[in-house]
Amino acid sequence: MNYYGQEIENLIAELGMLPSIGTKSAQRLAFHILGMDEKAVEDLANAIISARKNVRYCQECFTLTDDELCPICSNPKRNKNIIMVVEDTRDLAAYERTGKYQGVYHVLHGAISPMAGVGPADIKLKELMQRLQKTDVEEVIIATNSSLEGETTAAYISKLIKPTGIKVTRIASGVPVGGNLEYVDEVTLDRALEGRVEL
Ligand code: ZN
Repeated sequence: MNYYGQEIENLIAELGMLPSIGTKSAQRLAFHILGMDEKAVEDLANAIISARKNVRYCQECFTLTDDELCPICSNPKRNKNIIMVVEDTRDLAAYERTGKYQGVYHVLHGAISPMAGVGPADIKLKELMQRLQKTDVEEVIIATNSSLEGETTAAYISKLIKPTGIKVTRIASGVPVGGNLEYVDEVTLDRALEGRVEL
């Protein structure tokens, strides 16, 4: 039913497509936006358009960034010989918040999930293997989530890397099973990293 007229209905429908925004939240956001001054709305819309247009994969680690290399890969102080493999850019951010990790990352953008039809070719795994061929890497730390998908991915990657002779480790299970790295506190993440075991 259309109580509000098409313009408002469209706005609510678009906002409602966003994750964790139900109809009520979409309505609340829509009316909030309609109450904002025009300049603020323009700034919000432009920020969305500009980010979408300019954000791309870092050529080295495949995290999302707005330059050829992300700030971590282009930082000369980071140890390029240690690569931590994470599922997505938010997991990278979670580890960065601990402030303890000095190596670099590789972002897979997903995890292997036969149930959801996500295979090894659907994540940035080929890119990881190519990277290992051209750089001198001492250790690969697998920090995928401790969900079924995360564990499957960790086992797959470890099998793939083992023959190259590069040391492969897995973060310790201080991270709750099924836990998303993103929501785990910094101390737990740091402990998981410290207690990593060789695969
Ligand atoms: Zn990078």
